[in-house]
Formats: sequence, C-alpha cells, structure tokens
Amino acid sequence: MKKYKYYTSLLLSCALFLPMKTFANVSEIADKTAQYAQATYQDEMIESLRQLITFNTVAVEGLASPKNPAHQKFKAELANQAKHLGLDYTDYGYVVVIGLGDSEQRVGMITHGDIQPFNPSKWAQSPLVLDQTSEPGKLIGRGTEDDKGPITNALYAMKSIKDLKIKLNKRIELYVYMAEESDWQPLRDHIKQHSLPQVNITLDAEYPVVTAEKGYGTISMTFPKTSDTSKFSSNALSENTYISEFTGGFFGSQIPEDAHATIENATAELLTRIKKIAKSHAGIRYSYQWQGTQLSITALGRSAHSSKPEYGINAISYLADLLSVNHWPNNTSGALVNFINEHLGTGLYGKKFGDIAYSDEFMGPMSVQATVLKATENGMQLNINIRRPRGKTTEQLTHEISSTLIKWQQKNQVTLVDLNNDINEPFVQTNAPQIDTLLEVFSFYTGITEAKPISIGGGTNSRLFPNAVSFGPSMPGTAYTGHSEHEFITKEQFILNLKMYTAVLTELAK
Ligand SMILES: [Zn+2]
Repeated sequence: MKKYKYYTSLLLSCALFLPMKTFANVSEIADKTAQYAQATYQDEMIESLRQLITFNTVAVEGLASPKNPAHQKFKAELANQAKHLGLDYTDYGYVVVIGLGDSEQRVGMITHGDIQPFNPSKWAQSPLVLDQTSEPGKLIGRGTEDDKGPITNALYAMKSIKDLKIKLNKRIELYVYMAEESDWQPLRDHIKQHSLPQVNITLDAEYPVVTAEKGYGTISMTFPKTSDTSKFSSNALSENTYISEFTGGFFGSQIPEDAHATIENATAELLTRIKKIAKSHAGIRYSYQWQGTQLSITALGRSAHSSKPEYGINAISYLADLLSVNHWPNNTSGALVNFINEHLGTGLYGKKFGDIAYSDEFMGPMSVQATVLKATENGMQLNINIRRPRGKTTEQLTHEISSTLIKWQQKNQVTLVDLNNDINEPFVQTNAPQIDTLLEVFSFYTGITEAKPISIGGGTNSRLFPNAVSFGPSMPGTAYTGHSEHEFITKEQFILNLKMYTAVLTELAK
C-alpha cells in the first residue's frame, strides 16, 4: 500500500483538531524552503511573468522558432532572468535548459515557452499584457496557465533552493521547449543528441499527478465545391432554400466559440422553427440577421481546450444542431451541416460516428469534436479533433472512421475529398519513482487527502522524457483555461504552485 493512504485515513479522523503538518510526509527542509519562497518571491515572480507574457511566442508557419524574432526576444528575457537569479542558461535553439547544481544525477522540469493563438477582441485587455485589474485575484493573459506561469514558478523554486544553500545530490534542470503547441519533431531531434535528466516532472497539465494521457488525433475531410443548385436533392424546405455558408472555429485544439451560417431564400416560418430549437440550447447565444430573404445566423459558444470539451460549448456543433430542422440540399455547406448532425451531434464522445466510440476505465472516453471549418481550394474542410484512450488500435479506429465516411458518401451522393486521419498513440506511464513524493507534497499543501494518479485528455512532452509525469499547474476539478480566450491563473494558485514546486524539487534533489 502506498504511504499516502495511511495518512489519508489518519487525516480524515483528525483534520479538525490538529494541523495537517503533523501527518503528511513532507520533510522539514522542503517545507521550510517552500515557505521561504512564498515569503520572499511573490512580487518578483509576478513581475517575471509580466515580462514573459509580453512576447508573442505563437508559432509562425514556415518560420523556425530559432529564427523567429519574437521567440529570440523571449529567450533573451529568459536568459536575463536566469542570470539575475544565478542559474545557468543554455540555448540549444528550440530547447532552452536552465540549471542549478552540477551533479550527474538530474531532476528535470518540462515546460514550454510558445503559446496558442488568441483573438484580442475577446479579451478585456491585451492578452500580451498581464492583466491584474479586470478581475481582482486573477492574473489574466495568454500563457499565464499554459505555460509561462509554470516557467516563472520553476525559476523561483530553483532560486529559493539556491538561496537557502540546500545541499543538492541532483542537478535541477528546467526545460523550456519553444514549439510544444505546433511541432514536437525538433524536441525529438534534441533528445537524440543530448542526455536527459533521469527523473522528470512536466509542469503543463494538472494535479495531483498525471500518469496517462490520451492520444491526439485529427480527422479531416473536405466537402467539395458545388455551385449548381439545380442538382441539390429535393427534400429541402422549399425548392430553393439552401445553406450557402457555414464556417466556424479557430484552431485544431480549441473547442470553437464562434460559428456562422447563411441560409438563402429563407422564410419567417423557418426562423420560427430554428428559434424553437435555440430555446433548448443552454449557454450559447445566437443572433439573426435578415438581408432580403437571406438569413444569417451567428453563434457564440464558449472556447475551451479541446482535451476538455466538457468545459466548452461547441459553436459549430450547436449551430449545426440549430439547423437540424431540415435535411439540407447537399451543396458544400448543406452537406457539411447534414454530416455534422448525422455523425457528430452535440455529444462529446463520438457516439453518432459509426462504431468509433469507446472508453477505458482509467483514461475515460474518447472525445470527438469538430474544431475548425476552413475554406480550401477544393471546398470546405472539416477538422475533427479526437482524444483517444488506450483500448483500440490506430488501425481499428482508422477502419471504423473510413467505413462511416464511405457509407455516408454513398447514402448522400457526395464525394468527400482530401480525407486524412492523423492519430497518435495514448501514453501510459508505468514507471516513475517520484509519484509518491508528488502526491505527498500535493496533499500537504492543498489538504486534498484522497490524491491518486489521474489520466488526462491533453498530451504533454512527458511522453518524450524518461520517468516523466505531469504535476500541475491546474487544480483538479477546475476549468483549465489554457487554449481558451479567457486564460488566467489565480494569484492564489500561482503562489501555491511556487510552494509545491519548491517543496517537490527540494525533496527530489536533496
Ligand atoms: Zn501547454
């Protein structure tokens, strides 16, 4: 039995009468260092984050990170901060390593300095300026949670250990990868040429400890361009009512917040039927606009990380559902809407998509979400983001996906083009000696005693490092705001993360 179980039961019976400290297994020196970090570096750490947020480190297509001026400036700032804190700094191009100590044995922390795109019009202040005033208690900005906040936490955890002259048996290394959100190949290349710490924690997911991650996948298909409306199938509302436009989404790993549809030759009666469905949709706003007989509908849902679709409201699937009043003529947009309604729906787990739905007891169900609609040369491309647990082979999934698509095309007399599946493997960590230490520290500082390893839908760089598991920065049961248009970390959580990372590093490196 793992140690923490014993403390759990003790703690449950005594929590009301005695300070938690008495029971959880965190060493005095680790707690002392964590308390010191909290007492000494709160303001400086916020200032460090404020600086890092200002650099727009989103990936630019066709421009390698080492050549991207914004990435270069971000790294220069990072180098400055490391130097100021007395930590060593090595820039390998895509990978930066900031270190403390010189033992051969090492403990690594894995983070990333690149960010996801953002839509500034959706933020109270610029997402590149740390906003501490719009919502008191929150630090708002792109990267606050994912993943620049954890970088600054790690820096000040290392600094605190250095200040207190803790004798280290292991060197501590902070990895900052610059293309986590766009391309993992440069990291794989780096790993082939350099030795890595023997034990690693990834600061890019959630607590208490993540030992399994679903596999990321994209299913994409294009609904072909058609302009000849006379060829549309005949089961329309009236002879010439059809959908001329259906767009939405922003990027592949974000649950879309926006979607838009245009209906030609619409009628007031049609709008009445549409509005009836709208009443049953909670949490999404629609606006309607007439221009002659052309009806435009705009949907505003809620963005979220696509690995956590439960926290978002998918504007694409809900808007399609709103249009389910009819089986539309199969022109480009009509076919697209019909397909979404038939095989995606507003559910989260692919239950309408032929036989693909499945679930794993520990890792949970596969999620299947439309995330981006994009006009291409050949028509409208639908991108579906999936997050798959263990339990099915890629081959089986691929087969099930194509059999559904074949049947749908035959039934609807539509030939989809540019069909593409890109499905990655799930990751399960079975061997990480630091798990008990992480759970102890987590329970000690949060008072959450039933801490157990968990599985998540997101994918982190844990899978590329030896003995790696994720530890924070997000609390279990709270909405993860990274990748959303309302990214923040509470000041309280930010400080708590500093304490937990400081304690964990002290325990693992001393
Ligand atoms: Zn991240």
